[in-house]
Amino acid sequence: MSILIKGVTLDGHKKDIFIRDNLIQKIDDSINLSANVQISGDYKAAIPSFINGHTHAAMTLLRGYADDMHLQDWLEKKIWVAEAHMTEEDIYCGARLACLEMIKTGTTFFNDMYWFWKGTARAVQEMGIRAAISAVFIDFFDKKKAKEQIEINMKLFEESRNFGDRVTFTLGPHAIYTVSEGSLKWAADFARDHGLLIHVHLSETQEEVENCIRKQGMRPAEYLGKIGFLGPNVIACHGVWLSHKEILLLKKHGVKVVHNPISNMKLAVGKAFPYERLKTAGVTISLGTDGCSSNNNLDMLENMKFASLLQKYHHKDTTALPAREAFQMATINGAKAFGLNCGEVKEGALADLALIDLQRPELTPHFDLYSDLVYSGNGGCVDTVICDGKVLMANRRVENEETILEEARRCAFDLIKRASHSNG
Ligand SMILES: [Zn+2]
Repeated sequence: MSILIKGVTLDGHKKDIFIRDNLIQKIDDSINLSANVQISGDYKAAIPSFINGHTHAAMTLLRGYADDMHLQDWLEKKIWVAEAHMTEEDIYCGARLACLEMIKTGTTFFNDMYWFWKGTARAVQEMGIRAAISAVFIDFFDKKKAKEQIEINMKLFEESRNFGDRVTFTLGPHAIYTVSEGSLKWAADFARDHGLLIHVHLSETQEEVENCIRKQGMRPAEYLGKIGFLGPNVIACHGVWLSHKEILLLKKHGVKVVHNPISNMKLAVGKAFPYERLKTAGVTISLGTDGCSSNNNLDMLENMKFASLLQKYHHKDTTALPAREAFQMATINGAKAFGLNCGEVKEGALADLALIDLQRPELTPHFDLYSDLVYSGNGGCVDTVICDGKVLMANRRVENEETILEEARRCAFDLIKRASHSNG
């Protein structure tokens, strides 16, 4: 299988890109090789496709279902009630919708944490993108639940081998306020023994920090350091309330941090992400959307804009988090965090890339690609998406998209009907 992209703009120059199997084999001014698929690069720019560092894909089903509520009411009366009624089939439908939305907005890899692992894995396998998928591990400090969760995870790890190499099994201990110390230690050991990533929420709210200080006599990252949880395989999401000392501790252990600017602002976490301090410390920072009930979409370009504007606003400094850096958070930094051979369009890299439609009014006149994409563009500017050497979207068309939308709609309304019946 081979793809030849003719005359596409790459880093400001017209190039041909030749893809064989799942790799970018050659990039040159002119390539005259025959290919199974030829794509015209006229008025198009080639970019690495995006890496969504933190999401709960199937939450697309709850998009717009409950907004503008107090956090606790929102969780207890709406989200948890609906989630309690979800089946593996619901998760599959929701995750498929998420994959569709990601493809349509230029994302080909996401880091997920949600219920019914196999539902999400099936969707990813079918839709042709990549994902690191964890099952939510929550034991609420209950020994019996902890044992169950450990067994479920060990079994899923074995079964995950059946899902092909675009699906990566990871561990997902939810957070320090939902998972016991014993389980956190188990996750750290199991991940080390099997070379797995650990996906965890960390320091999202002030309450989390205060409770940890009360209970453990130290801050969340310090507590995780003390119990031997931190390491280069840990993907810590949010990190809004990290102290300077904690930032240095994360750097020391090589922990990767994922920033979710839109979710943080929507859920009113009360502080701006300490981007400058993390960057100065040399921590790898990538970008995530979080789930669709706290965002409410999966558009990484929109996230880049919010990330940049939040820092400018917070520091009263127009030079804070420039467009190009925001773009790198969603591409090369993500690849680094998840150990992927992509995040740049270059020879030898995985053929995971997107073509941007330069005929879009919001990208015209087009002085600077990064300014245009981050400050003016949106996911709708993506024309073509290639992942693992396969065209997943051409001319903004994805196979079966109407069916995926129809089934997700049916699934979501049916779920809410079941949830509201049981709720009286
Ligand atoms: Zn989350």
